[in-house]
Amino acid sequence: MYKPTVAVVGRPNVGKSTLFNRIIGERKAIVEDTPGVTRDRLYAEGEWLNHTFNLIDTGGIEVKDEPFQEQIKMQAEIAILEADVILMVVNGREDVTRDDLFVARILQKSNKPVVLVVNKIDNFEMRNDIYEFYQLGLGEPFPVSGSHGLGLGDALDEVAGHFKQLEMDVEEDTSIKVSLIGRPNVGKSSLVNAILGEERVIVSNIAGTTRDAVDTPYTYDGEAYTLIDTAGMRKRGKIYESTEKYSVLRASRAIERSDIVLVILNGEEGIREQDKRIAGLAHEAGKAIVIVVNKWDAVKKDEKTMRDFELDIKDNFQYLDYAPITFVSALTSARLKTLFPLIQEVYESSIKRIQSSTLNEVLVDSVSMNPTPTDSSGRRLSIYYGTQVSVKPPTFVLFVNDTELMHFSYRRYIENQLRKAFGFKGTPIHIISRKRN
Ligand code: GDP
Ligand code: GDP
Repeated sequence: MYKPTVAVVGRPNVGKSTLFNRIIGERKAIVEDTPGVTRDRLYAEGEWLNHTFNLIDTGGIEVKDEPFQEQIKMQAEIAILEADVILMVVNGREDVTRDDLFVARILQKSNKPVVLVVNKIDNFEMRNDIYEFYQLGLGEPFPVSGSHGLGLGDALDEVAGHFKQLEMDVEEDTSIKVSLIGRPNVGKSSLVNAILGEERVIVSNIAGTTRDAVDTPYTYDGEAYTLIDTAGMRKRGKIYESTEKYSVLRASRAIERSDIVLVILNGEEGIREQDKRIAGLAHEAGKAIVIVVNKWDAVKKDEKTMRDFELDIKDNFQYLDYAPITFVSALTSARLKTLFPLIQEVYESSIKRIQSSTLNEVLVDSVSMNPTPTDSSGRRLSIYYGTQVSVKPPTFVLFVNDTELMHFSYRRYIENQLRKAFGFKGTPIHIISRKRN
């Protein structure tokens, strides 16, 4: 089902991030142990009634050294580019300002639906203060209080009203989504072109959605794929990708839509800090991953070079030890044919289901080979049984006597045993322990 995106815009200090946090609630990622991933959230999942949507706090995206007006203009433009519905926030404790009018005018010119919320209306008596905001020309203003959590229901009802139309407009696309992520200039676009072999076919934007014009269909071995080239967005002309936070946001959005993520490295330059951050995003999102070292033509090689590079990758991306690595050249197409067999393989892993009986045999064997840990008072972890609850990534629930007794290292051991037994090449697996009543 199509998952819409909502962007929060408005000038500074009106309460955008307060509202953002209020709407996403206290959701937490399952995996929190990836080093190098910046934790300040500008992008998260929200839920209202039976809708799940992505939420962007554009206030967190800054370009340094730009005048104030440029900043808020940029944020509004990013919102228009990225979002299906825009939530414009103003401060109900102040009059309409020039900057409010400035932002409103930019939004008006887009064809995106805008819901106007007047924030900091902390009590009922203040509700009369909202009428002057009609002059922004964005329709009915909704009084809310981000810090007290008031009024949000009505505003989100209005937002969700716009989703219904979107969900009807978008036809189901069942192709397997493969995104290419990586630093600028590692060769993402070149790789897409090399895969396609020919001049690339650009699918036109589907009106009313945020699908990117850089989605490219591709058929391999009778299977329909969509290649998502995150570089293409930058090359499309506009804008702001030089800002780190925006490129991280773009990568996150591409990753989220993907079944498989190709983490592209530059073989010529080696591994950089930014590579780790980008790869960490894919891991955290639970996606199947192939690490692709590009520009292999430009590397002086002997028989040890590939092995050394692999070790370097294992060293720098320890949490990605499940991801296969391949070396290619987009320029000469050398070894390019290694890519899709790996893509097929990691995809199969990510959708693999293990029968409960088989799973429990492996769990029993694992526990007998390496007994469960005890706590300081001698209480021992008991694993009663396990079951696979979902795929993409494969997720297992283990029913135990006490979840506190399930230590990280033992969970890791179980993961390794599951990998030994079932493979799961290229996909993270999640193991959740739950107390059995
Ligand atoms: P942003 O710059 O638009 O993201 O604004 P923030 O969310 O950082 O909020 C700016 C200030 O307004 C902070 O001091 C918040 O505590 C305050 N604030 C946010 N929402 C409300 C509200 O609903 N009522 C009141 N009284 N203050 C609020
Ligand atoms: P992107 O920013 O990641 O999309 O990178 P591009 O595809 O635009 O490539 C950046 C530069 O690297 C261009 O000058 C390409 O010609 C060059 N390049 C891409 N792939 C290869 C390759 O496999 N070998 C070599 N030698 N150069 C490459």
